[in-house]
Amino acid sequence: MHAMRQKTRQLADDAPPALLPGRPRAAIYIVDEERQIVLYANPEMHRLDSRLAEIGPHAFEAQFVREPAAGCVSGVLRHTVTGRWYRLQEESIPWGRRRHVKLKVLDDVTEQKNARMLREQRRESAHQASRLSTLAEIASTLAHEINQPLTVITTYTEACQRLLQASKIDHAEIIAVLAKCHTQAVRASSIIERLREFISQRRHQPAPWPVAALVAEALDVGRPLLEAAQISVDSQQVADDLVVIGDRILLVQLLVNLIRNAIDAMRSTPENERRLTIAATPEAGEIQISVADRGCGLPTPDVEALFTPFYTTKGEGLGLGLAICRSVAESHNGRLWASGNAEGGATFFLAIPVEAVAA
Ligand code: ADP
Repeated sequence: MHAMRQKTRQLADDAPPALLPGRPRAAIYIVDEERQIVLYANPEMHRLDSRLAEIGPHAFEAQFVREPAAGCVSGVLRHTVTGRWYRLQEESIPWGRRRHVKLKVLDDVTEQKNARMLREQRRESAHQASRLSTLAEIASTLAHEINQPLTVITTYTEACQRLLQASKIDHAEIIAVLAKCHTQAVRASSIIERLREFISQRRHQPAPWPVAALVAEALDVGRPLLEAAQISVDSQQVADDLVVIGDRILLVQLLVNLIRNAIDAMRSTPENERRLTIAATPEAGEIQISVADRGCGLPTPDVEALFTPFYTTKGEGLGLGLAICRSVAESHNGRLWASGNAEGGATFFLAIPVEAVAA
């Protein structure tokens, strides 16, 4: 037994992983778990708790709480009285002929843990700063986004007024126009709601959406503007089984934005050449949706500039639409880019992984 104790003491003295200068050596103790007694404790252990032998291992260990599981290294404990952090390693070792006891090593990792927490805090505040600038962008874009349903509502209410002024009032038609007004008003409020969620980075409600339905909804929303601008639409048949996972309102809004830009780009295109082509094709694990126009073409060879906030060539533009569209695409693990068409006009591409889940 004496030899064994000797061996254990030597093992204990060899064990401490006190590799960093100034770092405390590990506290080591050996416990007979059956009898709940401490067989050995090194000086660090005595320093950690001088009453160890008196109170026994159970009461000593009850002073520690395990680090919450999420994203943390297992086996790291916090001493509830001192607040210091320890990594616990345990091993069963032979003690005498037939018994096994537990050798426990408590390595003080408080400094590393604090350094890690500091790094995480710094990362979080950098993240926060970039979120704030995105928030400023989105806030000013909101006005831009909301303008579209409001314009449509204005047109419909004017139509209602005209219908009501007519000598013979057509109730069915008025009801139909009011229903369209209602749809646009609901749409405006959902844009605000979704953008608010997006800003606060609460989880979206990702759900599987057939790409065909997303394209159809975007075209539906853009239809009054497309018709007013006398633009013909070529929407290529999208296979029913092409599905993406994401936030419907944000994805539709992204496509509506591209459609609206295409409309603006075709203002000076001869009427019979104004055409918008939307297609969706599966490409290596992702779905690429393209929105092509026959407009004025990209205003600069530096295509990336279009996606930077406040870049605009329009008299009343804010230059935020594409920047927001790109952040929406990226929040779905996707990409958004543009290229000029050989035959004139521009094409914007949205690629979303088939399995993408909104962040
Ligand atoms: P805004 O529409 O307020 O200008 P966007 O970020 O949506 O802001 O667009 C930035 C710029 O990108 C536009 O001002 C325009 O110069 C260019 N652009 C966007 N879409 C097209 C397009 N389909 N064809 C040509 N240029 C485009």
